Amino acid sequence: MRTMLLGGPGSGKGTQGQRLARHYGVPHIASGDLLRAEVRAGTDLGRQVAGCLDAGRLVPDELISDLMLPAVLSAAEAGGYILDGFPRSVAQAVSADAALAESGAGLQSVLFLAVAEQELVRRLLERAESAGRSDDTAEVIADRLRVFEAETRPLIEHYRAQRLLIEMAADQPADRVTEAILAALEARDGK
Ligand code: AMP
Repeated sequence: MRTMLLGGPGSGKGTQGQRLARHYGVPHIASGDLLRAEVRAGTDLGRQVAGCLDAGRLVPDELISDLMLPAVLSAAEAGGYILDGFPRSVAQAVSADAALAESGAGLQSVLFLAVAEQELVRRLLERAESAGRSDDTAEVIADRLRVFEAETRPLIEHYRAQRLLIEMAADQPADRVTEAILAALEARDGK
């Protein structure tokens, strides 16, 4: 299983990614989680990216590719991966596509979790109260949504053109979304 979750902030990528990883017995590789761990550990990379994370801006492509590609390649070798949050722009996708294809580790599907913007904002503000993430404030949420629209949404067409895209209505309870994803992946594998 080599798939990726694509969606705005608050679309449920993390929740669904963890569930899919458990279901398929492969790692959930979430770029945001890895970056936050670097910041917490106070590494050089963490210091370089902390400002971007706090502001909701994308960290430079080279840093994220260097962090993610080795993890994705070794997971692919061991049986697969559920990617979450990477690639996040067409430039990242083009270089990741090439690097992964070379090793037969490329994506087999891309799950787009479609959620209306109003609902994304509602979920993120709710999460702000419970999780205490530094980027879950009203101002930074607005910036992250803008970054999603400008940088990440074009990936929908990028992966549709490669016939990898599976669009899911993710404006529903998490359990329903998980069921729908598993059904869609099974239907696809059966083809
Ligand atoms: P997330 O947990 O996926 O919402 O990511 C949190 C933050 O990490 C983002 O707002 C960016 O600052 C950074 N980030 C995560 N993934 C990427 C990526 N693929 N490219 C650049 N920045 C990223």
